[in-house]
This record gives sequence, C-alpha cells and structure tokens, in this order.
Amino acid sequence: MDIVFISDDENQAEFDKYFKEMPWKAIPFSERERSLKLGEIFKVESIPSLIVLSPSSDTLTSHGVEEVESLGIEALHLWSQGKSPFWMRTPNEGEPVWNNIVCTQCHMRPLVGRRYGCSHQECNINLCEACMSKNTHKHPLVEYLFPEHRYSLKQLFASVPYLLAPNNEGQLETNSLWKNGVKSIGLYFSAHWCPPCREFTPQLVKFYKEAQDSGHPFSLVFLSSDRDVTSFDEYRAEMPWPAVPFNSLAVLEDYFQCLGIPSLIVISTDGNILTRHGCDQVSRKGVEALKTWVKGEKLPRPPADEFEWSHISCDKCHMTSIIGQRYHCSTCSNYDLCSACEKKGHEHPLQLIPQPNDDDDNEHS
Ligand SMILES: [Zn+2]
Ligand SMILES: [Zn+2]
Ligand SMILES: [Zn+2]
Ligand SMILES: [Zn+2]
Repeated sequence: MDIVFISDDENQAEFDKYFKEMPWKAIPFSERERSLKLGEIFKVESIPSLIVLSPSSDTLTSHGVEEVESLGIEALHLWSQGKSPFWMRTPNEGEPVWNNIVCTQCHMRPLVGRRYGCSHQECNINLCEACMSKNTHKHPLVEYLFPEHRYSLKQLFASVPYLLAPNNEGQLETNSLWKNGVKSIGLYFSAHWCPPCREFTPQLVKFYKEAQDSGHPFSLVFLSSDRDVTSFDEYRAEMPWPAVPFNSLAVLEDYFQCLGIPSLIVISTDGNILTRHGCDQVSRKGVEALKTWVKGEKLPRPPADEFEWSHISCDKCHMTSIIGQRYHCSTCSNYDLCSACEKKGHEHPLQLIPQPNDDDDNEHS
C-alpha cells in the first residue's frame, strides 16, 4: 500500500527534517494549501491522523493510528485486503457504550456492552462479553463498571479481593470498610511522586486521627497512583487507614475517573457521591468535614461570601483564590474580579458566576 505524508509543519526546514524519517511520499511543503484542503475534506481534527482509502477512494478507516497502535502490522495486512479491523455494533437499549475503548480481541470499537479487563498494571486489555467467554488471559479478569451507572459499595468493590491493613498488619476483608453502621467512606486517590499529595497526606492523617479520637471514626481507603509496588508500600506506611492492593485498582480508577490527584471522593453507603472535592473541603473545614461525612451528610454549602474559588485570581487586586462572589468578563479573555473590585467598575458588562454545586456530582457533569 501507498502512504502519503500530509504535513502540518510550520516551515520548509521543519518539513524537511521530519520527512527525512519517512520512507514514503509526501505532498510538497510548497503545496500547503492542498494539504490544508485535504485536512478539511477528511475532517481531520487532531494529529497524528492516518486515513486509509480503498482504490475507489472510499474511506476504509479514519482511525488508522489507533488501529496500528492496537494491531501493529496486522492492521496493514487487513487494509491491503480492503478490510478495516475495527467494527461496530448497535447497542441494545440501556447497554453501555465505552467511547474510545477497543476490544483487544475482536476489535469492536467502541466496545459495547459488558467490558472486562485485567487489574495488573502492566496488562492493558479490554474484552467484550463474547471475547471474555473465550479468553485465555493469564490473570483473573475483572468487570469494569460503567461511569454513568450507580452501584452499591459491594458492587463497586467487587474487584477488590481484600484490603491491606495499615502498619503492614496483614489483610482485611474488603467489607470491613462499610461494616458496623458506617454511613460513608472516603476514597483517597494519591501518589508519592506527586508533591501536592505528599503535602496533603499529613493533614488528612492529622484530621483522621482527630476524628477517631473524638468518637467520629471516618472510614477511609487509599487508592494508589504510584508507579511501582515499592513506592506504593513506602507511601501507604504513612497512612493509618487501609489500602486497596496495588493490582486491584483498575476498576475503581476507571469508574471514578479522577482528573487529578490528590483527590478525595466521599460516597455514602448507598452509593451516592457526597463530594468529589474532599481535599478542598478538608483544607477548608479540617476535622469538621470528616465529622459531617461520618453522619452520611454533605457539608453545607459555604455562604456565598466565604466560598473560595481555588486557582481563580482577581485580575485587579490579584487575590490568588477569589473568596466570595466572583465576577467574570466575557469580553476580556480570562478576566475575573472579586466583589470589592467589581464595585470599582470595569469597562465591560460583568457576570456573577454562581457557586458550583456539589450536587452536580451525582449527575457526573
Ligand atoms: Zn471482543
Ligand atoms: Zn493480566
Ligand atoms: Zn479584587
Ligand atoms: Zn472586560
């Protein structure tokens, strides 16, 4: 098969340097207009992008890059026979659709229906239900949980065979997290390599012990984003609460889709999310946050004039995290004012931004 390089390089020198690596043809840099036009015709939104055409110029696939990534040379063999390795099936009503996930075995994309995988960090596999029944993978497989569904704690932790007790005192039953009338549990996503995590953990330890000593034992569990077992073991030694074993994290990590660490997600025992912003709330309210969650309750929303807009600063007085009302200018790009500065006026109309609502968490927005 033929491959043509269509460059998005900035100048001739960049183009020449890059094209030297490629054993196929290219549209010359001088015909940049033509390259851009092709990008438009094939609706290329990001690069690298590999579009495979049949001799009759029908599109065989627009996912060439992913197909090579998941099948290697096999993808090229299939294309040369006029076939595309990825295939689709229409979901039945209520069936989950896993965007951007490909079945490692049959290459259904997106994977539709039940999805299975391996918890071992080094195995990166996804199987559909049909392939699961025929699998010969060397480790036991786990079923993923669909982020848009709600599950009980028992279902959420079904892939976690046991917990590691603090202080290296062996194993605990997974359900010890929610036994004895516990009303909520905290999932602490963190890693030793992450400086903000290392800074936050001692605070959390302090408040955890304080809550415990005052008769408000908060149920907490560590979910590691560490890169290897050694740093995982080292890090969890600092924590007086149990940890999910290093090779049992995949399902929970995938389900909660934390965008950053440290992250403390608090869920009630009936599976509702009390907050996804546990770290902020602990920083703000200290042990009071834990004492509230122990009761299975959400923290009351702070009064509007106490709310802290973390990482949003006032562009006039440069208060680093605006506290209280936040006003936004949609004419200037990225311009926010605190309420004191808003009163002094601004040349464009300003909009009062409503305080984000933790209840939105349950909508997964
Ligand atoms: Zn499959
Ligand atoms: Zn495996
Ligand atoms: Zn200000
Ligand atoms: Zn403005």
